[in-house]
Amino acid sequence: MSDIEIKYKGKGKREKGKEEIKCHCEGANDLTSTKERSCHCEGANDLTSTKERSCHCEEGKPDEAIQKENLSTVRPFDLLTLTSLLDSKSCFKLICGAGNENLDEVEKLVALYSAAGCHFFDLSANEEVLAAAQRGLDFSIPKNGQNGAQKDYHFCISIGTKNDVHVQKAQIDAEKCIACGKCVEVCLQKAIKEIGNRKWEIDKRNCIGCLKCKAVCNFDAIAIIFPTLHYTFSPSIPYSLFPISCIELHASDTNEAEVDEIWSELQNFEGMLSLCIGREKLSNGKVLSRIKRLIKDREPYTTIIQADGSPMSGGEDDFKTTLQSVAMAEVIQGVNGANLPVYILLSGGTNSKTAELAKLCGVNFHGIAAGSYARKIVKKYIEREDFFENKIIFEEASKIAKIFIQSTKL
Ligand code: SF4
Ligand code: SF4
Repeated sequence: MSDIEIKYKGKGKREKGKEEIKCHCEGANDLTSTKERSCHCEGANDLTSTKERSCHCEEGKPDEAIQKENLSTVRPFDLLTLTSLLDSKSCFKLICGAGNENLDEVEKLVALYSAAGCHFFDLSANEEVLAAAQRGLDFSIPKNGQNGAQKDYHFCISIGTKNDVHVQKAQIDAEKCIACGKCVEVCLQKAIKEIGNRKWEIDKRNCIGCLKCKAVCNFDAIAIIFPTLHYTFSPSIPYSLFPISCIELHASDTNEAEVDEIWSELQNFEGMLSLCIGREKLSNGKVLSRIKRLIKDREPYTTIIQADGSPMSGGEDDFKTTLQSVAMAEVIQGVNGANLPVYILLSGGTNSKTAELAKLCGVNFHGIAAGSYARKIVKKYIEREDFFENKIIFEEASKIAKIFIQSTKL
């Protein structure tokens, strides 16, 4: 028996050492001697003639096939209520964070903001995160029922091109770090933890890649990394279990071919597509030509353009912080981009001044997506262990969230 490559990609427990085994399923049993037999799962039927096909079970399909199938089964969960929300020009989207995998925080944020009137939630494309968001929604909104049916609530899953800032994370270089603690103070996500002996580490699940830590580190001890996990479609995620009405591609990086490739795959999705795009790496002209190219074959008003002013820069509640988000929307609907058949959401530095500033500037929009600021104003409540049990605390936090949501609907 030789140590030949085992082409196994699924969850099944296999040990290296068997020849030519190409099974991906969990149900596989006898792996001991089968040279030619390519599938071991219970669900496999006709194994007799398929020379090329190496596995017949769900998990054994080629990645590409699974990805396409998963996209078509992602449920456009009563899209009408989402388009009505956008048509009303008062859509508020809570950005939990494309890279935010802090399950406790996501669950609480969705519970809180849904109770406060938010119907649209931006989440990492990660099954655990989706499940946490669903728990939060279940807490505040009855699954059925006349006044609070969950059909009016929508999840948007965020994915990104390989080098997009929204899918980046920070990492401390232990060789360079002198443990001054400056980065800890500025990290709103509380992602930086001491691991003893004056050493610090970044908890990747909590890190949203805002790089506030990097900005204050005088020792160049913080690197940027781009983990790929969860930022694309995973064959194992049961997308249809969640109210996913929208898929958002973060595409502000310069690689046009990569953007085109991912966008083209997303066309299998029947719901709303969102393109989150900003100007940190692209000129105004490139932003517009990318948008025009990507929407040209789509039905009118099936695309949201999330005008990303200054990504993850929110936190302060002033005009200056939100200036770029309004400016970005102006670029999209300006002279060259006017009349594009898309919905425009403002993001990237949004706060309670965004709608006011946009109105002052004569910039039209269909809604506001808020992340850093929305999370910051309820942070002290979210961090409490009795958040769900303590009704007074929940109500207080909900009131704050409600006032903020109202401020985005001028
Ligand atoms: S700011 Fe830089 S040097 Fe200071 S603790 Fe953070 S990573 Fe280390
Ligand atoms: S400051 Fe931002 S990038 Fe740095 S660890 Fe915290 S969340 Fe991550």
